[in-house]
Amino acid sequence: MSESVALHTTNDEKRSTPAIQLVGLRKQFGAGELSVHAVDGVDLSIEEGEFFSLLGPSGSGKTTVLRMIAGFELPTGGAILLQGKDVTTQPPYDRDVNTVFQDYALFPHLTVRQNVEYGLKVKKVPKAERRRRAEEMLEAVRLGSYGNRKPNQLSGGQRQRVALARALVNRPKVLLLDEPLGALDLKLREEMQVELKTIQRDVGITFVFVTHDQGEALSMSSRVAVFNHGRIEQVGTPREIYDHPSTMFVAGFVGTSNLLPAPLSQELFGVFRTHSVRPERIRVVQQTVSDVEVSVEGVVDDIQYLGADCRVRVRIADGTHLLANVPSDGLVGVAVGGTARLAWPRFAAFEVAETITSEGGDQ
Ligand code: ADP
Ligand code: MG
Repeated sequence: MSESVALHTTNDEKRSTPAIQLVGLRKQFGAGELSVHAVDGVDLSIEEGEFFSLLGPSGSGKTTVLRMIAGFELPTGGAILLQGKDVTTQPPYDRDVNTVFQDYALFPHLTVRQNVEYGLKVKKVPKAERRRRAEEMLEAVRLGSYGNRKPNQLSGGQRQRVALARALVNRPKVLLLDEPLGALDLKLREEMQVELKTIQRDVGITFVFVTHDQGEALSMSSRVAVFNHGRIEQVGTPREIYDHPSTMFVAGFVGTSNLLPAPLSQELFGVFRTHSVRPERIRVVQQTVSDVEVSVEGVVDDIQYLGADCRVRVRIADGTHLLANVPSDGLVGVAVGGTARLAWPRFAAFEVAETITSEGGDQ
């Protein structure tokens, strides 16, 4: 991750051709009143070697974008460039990409090694080289000693790694992954997140990773594009997306945010615009605070114990509810039904747009 982040922070370094460019990409399914704008004007540039995530709720157009990059679906507008070459109307087999789906179907009657070799066999790669490359990939996904097993002798996570090896053995320039960890239970999924990131770094291939899980996207990616209704609301590093959500949607979808309506923002710090502030930036204080902080009083209407922290919900005079994450041992004198004073540093509140503006979806 550090390398790809560096790629985006050093401006003086000359950038190479992006691995993927999407230009005004559109996909409409059906016609007339029943038509769906699944992808509604997406501009995006993904650099070589990135671990790039498409994050968004179900139905926001992520899979459709991925299928258009792979060539399984033809755009109804815009263009797709791979390594600078326009492939918009090229068939899938003419594109240097491979896809791993959630329901990775391995051939049950073939061994793990034969499954991985399969694509090379189709391409008529000689047997010895086929064998060597398959072994190399099985090593890369840490299944070096599993070559002779059948898929039903593996765990879910191991099967998913075979699917990964099977895609990577073709040495694609780009690997597309559509919710590949969705079928795994939580613990295995977390293990695989770490594994996937390591594998990506080892093989140095550009990964485009689709997920609806914001934690997954934030923890694995060099950059994230947040999708909503077929459009991109924000593109940025996980930190940028989390610390500076640029729209209400991103503020609400990625992590938990408090929204301060424009009239409240006006009253508290003199700016008539909607702002967002993260619960972990808000403290419960005993009395008035310094003028670098904003503070407001309200009635505590819920306290939720999260372990080391508590989440306190406070209703303030205009009816807005604010959530504050505070250390459990800092809650002396705070009780449901009582009043509490909340405070946060001025710079912790960010202006958020109601929706994306025409510039908002651009980079
Ligand atoms: P996501 O992967 O983010 O859940 P999709 O790209 O699968 O979203 O779907 C985006 C929208 O396009 C949804 O409203 C979905 O119902 C619609 N859609 C996807 N594929 C088709 C299709 N083949 N025919 C009609 N509508 C589709
Ligand atoms: Mg999908």
